[in-house]
Amino acid sequence: MELFKCRKCDAKYPKEYFHNCKTKPNGIHEVCKFCANEISAMYRKRRKEEQRQVAHIKLTSSTKKDYCKMYEFLESIGYDLNSDKSIHEQFCLKYGLKPIKREKKSRNVYNPQDCQKKTPTNNRRGLNE
Ligand SMILES: [Zn+2]
Repeated sequence: MELFKCRKCDAKYPKEYFHNCKTKPNGIHEVCKFCANEISAMYRKRRKEEQRQVAHIKLTSSTKKDYCKMYEFLESIGYDLNSDKSIHEQFCLKYGLKPIKREKKSRNVYNPQDCQKKTPTNNRRGLNE
């Protein structure tokens, strides 16, 4: 039986121990299935890690524009931006959950009122006039 050498672990296995690969001359992958599993697990883990970092960056660098878009969306799905109840409270009421008392408004967080306020900058640019 012909044996093939895995490029990663240097062990020799029969063809069945390799994944098929059409682009390779011998029709099989350069690394054995065991190593291939290890490699894909590693990639999965790394991708997960990266996605978590991206999500973190997005959350912490949300701009006022992002918030406004978000409120626009929330309004479109039925939240009342002018209510004296916060979006969080409205959400909890809707789903029968207990609202959590929030800490003081943190920096870089915009509430619906911030977004509705017309700032001189907006007027100067003549948006939505
Ligand atoms: Zn191997």
